Amino acid sequence: MAKRVIVDENVEKFLQSVAENPGEVERCGLLVGRAGKDVEVVEAHEVENVKASAVEFELNPVEVLRVFERAEQSGLDVVGVWHTHPVGYAKPSGKDAMGASVFPGVWVIIARGEVRWYLAGEKGFEEAEVEVRSPRSAPSSSPSS
Ligand SMILES: [Zn+2]
Repeated sequence: MAKRVIVDENVEKFLQSVAENPGEVERCGLLVGRAGKDVEVVEAHEVENVKASAVEFELNPVEVLRVFERAEQSGLDVVGVWHTHPVGYAKPSGKDAMGASVFPGVWVIIARGEVRWYLAGEKGFEEAEVEVRSPRSAPSSSPSS
């Protein structure tokens, strides 16, 4: 059974804004949340594309480290990656397939105004079932931690 991806509304809004402005070079970043039975995505962070290319991306490792550290401090995990295809379609490229084997998890690919969600694993990419969640009134931090 495919996992579901539960996305906070603010993340979805951010990714939609990226879709409206995919950049001249690929824009990219990380998704932060909780990986369990379902994957929850509560934050999206933009990271510099050190390749500065319209057809590939490589996340700035210093910024990646910072996102990982901040996630850990909030008791969250880095659960995925997002990037745009300024000149392509919202489908994984050959490069993305290689990346997926290094970095399994949620992959969001944005192109032509479309935001597409995939789950990357051993068998490659699967389209993910996505549910957008409105912010809850209760704070998400756990008092027991
Ligand atoms: Zn790509």
